[in-house]
Order: sequence, then structure tokens, then C-alpha cells
Amino acid sequence: MSIVVQGVTKFYGQQKALDNVSFEIKTGEVVGFLGPNGAGKSTMMKIITGFIPPTSGNVLVNGIPVTDESKDIRKAIGYLPENNPLYPEMYVREYLSFCASLYKTGKSIKKQIDNIIETTGLAQEQKKKIGSLSKGYRQRVGLAQALIHDPEVLILDEATTGLDPNQIIEIRNLIRDAGKEKTVMLSTHIMQEVEAICNRVIIIDKGVVIADEDKNEIYSRIKQAKQEILVEFDSEPGEDLIKKITFAGSVRRIRQNTLIVESRGEEDIRPAIFAFAVNNNLTVLSLQKKENNLEEVFRVLTNSQ
Ligand code: ADP
Ligand code: MG
Repeated sequence: MSIVVQGVTKFYGQQKALDNVSFEIKTGEVVGFLGPNGAGKSTMMKIITGFIPPTSGNVLVNGIPVTDESKDIRKAIGYLPENNPLYPEMYVREYLSFCASLYKTGKSIKKQIDNIIETTGLAQEQKKKIGSLSKGYRQRVGLAQALIHDPEVLILDEATTGLDPNQIIEIRNLIRDAGKEKTVMLSTHIMQEVEAICNRVIIIDKGVVIADEDKNEIYSRIKQAKQEILVEFDSEPGEDLIKKITFAGSVRRIRQNTLIVESRGEEDIRPAIFAFAVNNNLTVLSLQKKENNLEEVFRVLTNSQ
């Protein structure tokens, strides 16, 4: 099941939330939709799932326009909306039964519920009221709701926001498992989420797509974006000496004997740091390359706009 977004623009009154957005997601891809708050992620997802219409442009899911509101499209898509709206007064099983009844899949509703409760780890909680569950379990109910009809496309809007680190890992694992057999698009404002789950990234800012690439391409940009080397010497290099580090973009002292040397470009500056130390009678006690993440790439991409 593919998703094709063609020149989608969305206005809320005077405000433009999406500006001529186009991209394609192929069957089986797990795509991270990344951008700061207000970028237009939720708006795009609501349009893809047919909850709101675009002002102009088209979205096709497996070749069918979502604005057709056909039953086939509804069955094909599972959607976890932002903030996971649930009915707190309903019991978990009752709610999932209600969700399953919305889709006529031809399968036994009881079996569907049993299956999804098992996959999402809700067995212990299935007889509880949704309102009494922890945030992590509520998010599982949200995922169960999105997955209950075994859709081929899964749209997840900020699925891990507000969860604690353990819950995040659990939900990510669930998403990763679902991604093995489904086309997944997940929005996030957290770079690490993309690194953990996705194989492709679409970055959006102020309603405009600013990058659309394979995760590896993003990583090669990371290398070009910035390098930070943490270097500890056996004694304190004086300010005059630091000025001699001309091969670096900038140098910051973070402790008496420890500097962060920053540079741009792909060339590894560690050999130059060693040479600098040798030439100035300093001994290098440790040299660490700080791993960069998508945050830096994102900063570079959005600043260049
Ligand atoms: P994101 O999910 O990336 O945080 P949204 O799609 O929620 O971004 O919002 C994009 C822009 O559209 C924001 O500026 C937001 O304030 C605005 N917006 C979103 N929903 C509405 C709405 N229902 N009415 C008016 N403006 C909205
Ligand atoms: Mg949002």
C-alpha cells in the first residue's frame, strides 16, 4: 500500500499550515515525519487519513483518492491521532470491540480483539476502565485501536510523546514489529525516534518539506554538519596556545585541561589535534568524537531556509 501526496496545501482560515507538499511512501517503508511543533505534521496526517480535506492537492492511498471516503480506504488505514483521544469511561475490551465493529473485515470480532490484546500486551489491563490506565497503557490501547482491523498502512501521530523512557522503548518495539509487514508513517519532533525506528525521513518545517531522504543520506549530512571532539590534555593549554588551533571552527574550554574542538566538513580532525599536542609538548589523555544526531542536521537544514 503506497501513499502519494501531490501538491497538498492547507489553509486554516488565513493561516497556511501546508504549502504545496508532495512526497511518496512506498509499500513496506517506515517513514519518520519529522519537524518542530507547528510544522504541519498533524495536519498532513489528518489529510492522509481523510479526517480533514486539503484546500488543494491530492492524496492517494494505493491509487485511490482519500477524499473518495471509500470503505476500502478506511479499512486500509490505521490511525493513531495526536494526544490519543480515548473514552475514559469505557473498558479496554469494550472500546476495542466498538472499534472493531466499525470495520467489517469478515473476521470474528472476538478473535480480532484477542489477537490485538496479545500483540499490544494489554492482557492484564483488558478488563479495566481506560481512564484508570497509565499513560503507557493508554498509548497501547491507542495502538490497538489503530491496528485492530489489520490495516496495511499505519499513521501514527506522536505515538511516544509524554511517555517515560521504558514506555517509549516498549511502544517503539511495537511500532517496529508492526513495520515489518505494514507501510508506516510516524510523526515526531524527536530525532532519536527516527534513528530508532525509521528507514527514511521526511523533514517538514512551516508547512514546507525541507528534506526527504534515506536515513543513510541523513547520516552523511550529519558527518558534514559538524564534528565535535572532546580532548583532555595532561596539563592546561594556555589561551595563546589555544589560538594556534587554527584548523578548527571553534574551541571551547569546558574544564581546565579539557577542550571541545569543533569543525565542519567530513575530514577527521583528530590527527591534527594529536599533531598540535605533540608540537606543543602536551600529552593527550583522551580524545572522543561526539556522535552527532539528527538535531544538528535539523538545525542546519532549518537555519538555511
Ligand atoms: P504539528 O503537528 O507539526 O505540530 P499542526 O499540523 O498541528 O503542526 O499545525 C500546523 C499549523 O496549523 C500550526 O501553526 C497550528 O497552529 C495551525 N493549526 C492546526 N490546527 C488548526 C486548526 N484547527 N485551526 C487553526 N489553525 C490550526
Ligand atoms: Mg502535531
